Amino acid sequence: MPSLIRSFPVPHYVPYSHNGMPGTIVDLDSTNTKPRSTRTSRSSNRDSADYSIRSYKSSKSSKSSQESITPLAGSLHVQIESPPIVCYGPASESSGALLSGMLWLTVAPWEIDLESLKLTFQSTVTTKKPVVFGCPDCTSKTTDLNTWDFVTGTHPVSHGLHSYPFSYLVPGNLPATTDSQLGSIKYHLSARGVTNHGEILQFAQEIKVARSILEGNDRNSLRIFPPTNLSATLTLPSVIHRGGNFPVEMRLEGVVTRTNFTRWKLRKATWRIEEKSKIISPACKIHAHKIGGEGKGVKYEDIKVLATEEYKTGWKSDFDTSDGKVEFGFTAGIPAYITSTDDVDNTTGLTVSHNLVVELIVAEEYCPKNSKLVTPTGSARVLRMQFNMNTTARAGMGISWEDECPPRYDDVPQSPPTYQTLVCESQSVEDLHSI
Ligand SMILES: [Zn+2]
Repeated sequence: MPSLIRSFPVPHYVPYSHNGMPGTIVDLDSTNTKPRSTRTSRSSNRDSADYSIRSYKSSKSSKSSQESITPLAGSLHVQIESPPIVCYGPASESSGALLSGMLWLTVAPWEIDLESLKLTFQSTVTTKKPVVFGCPDCTSKTTDLNTWDFVTGTHPVSHGLHSYPFSYLVPGNLPATTDSQLGSIKYHLSARGVTNHGEILQFAQEIKVARSILEGNDRNSLRIFPPTNLSATLTLPSVIHRGGNFPVEMRLEGVVTRTNFTRWKLRKATWRIEEKSKIISPACKIHAHKIGGEGKGVKYEDIKVLATEEYKTGWKSDFDTSDGKVEFGFTAGIPAYITSTDDVDNTTGLTVSHNLVVELIVAEEYCPKNSKLVTPTGSARVLRMQFNMNTTARAGMGISWEDECPPRYDDVPQSPPTYQTLVCESQSVEDLHSI
């Protein structure tokens, strides 16, 4: 607590990011980062702050001399029954994922009267560059995405185990659980029960939300480098995964200029994968004046190199075709041991994207016709190319909830053999009488 008090008065606020570059103050409206207010009217930073203070007080009071010997009236526990939450497809198209489970209430050896029992699915966006360090409202924002009110009003609950089932279709446009160098997005299921004596039962569990974009066809990208005739064609996968490699096929054309008797020779090739993070830190109402009023935020950007490699050989040069070509294939990837995150879109103010940057150093050579004498002209160029790479979670089972077909009648297997129909060959009673 002393650290909180010490860090509150900041006389001259200068928004610096961790790499020493100042952040820029931006309008929140123009950046489309305001959370959708449709389902979120009930939640605010104030609510979450009150919530934490009350729970803190309750835990403090339970340690008082009288209550320390009183056992808890009960406990809460959440059991998730659905598979891991993976939203398949891009945010604009994804049909979401199903979350279902059971809230268990264990009542200790006597009956209790519950005033309320509710479960909330919440998202928490935390910035690591708050406008005022130590201010919880500037640092994180909690939004209630769905609430289940299982008990409202006084309700007696008997001794034993009670179950409350819940289910929710996690919207497909929710950003995935993220922890980047500038901020984080997390989801929780938070259960809270209040007895008529004011005793609070609580339980919270983190729920991981992942996004997976299924692999499509490889894409071909063409880059040209005027004023030379050089052009590069790269074949890249449509999506990449962290902790995995992917092949890159590159073809450099236009390397020979017949009129000048010159050609470009590839000397060095490097690639690197950059993780680009951007966050807009909003200020709370108390500290909004530090950045020029409400409705503004401070934008921070950060680029981190996740992997890089350099080659001086390994390609195939062919100067005999009409304009010559160089072909080069290499393997790139994000190592599993590097801390990184999947792509995240801009709906919460936190954006993470990945770029593959390829740099080629070419040197010009003079090679007259019918002569084996090759002379460097001294001219060299750096050909730099940048490609956006969709980085997503692996598909896992790879089936969206809506594609999981229930069994149809045709799918019902053959039943066990039925009893044979017995033919009775005994004589009828009438026949017996007639004898
Ligand atoms: Zn604040």
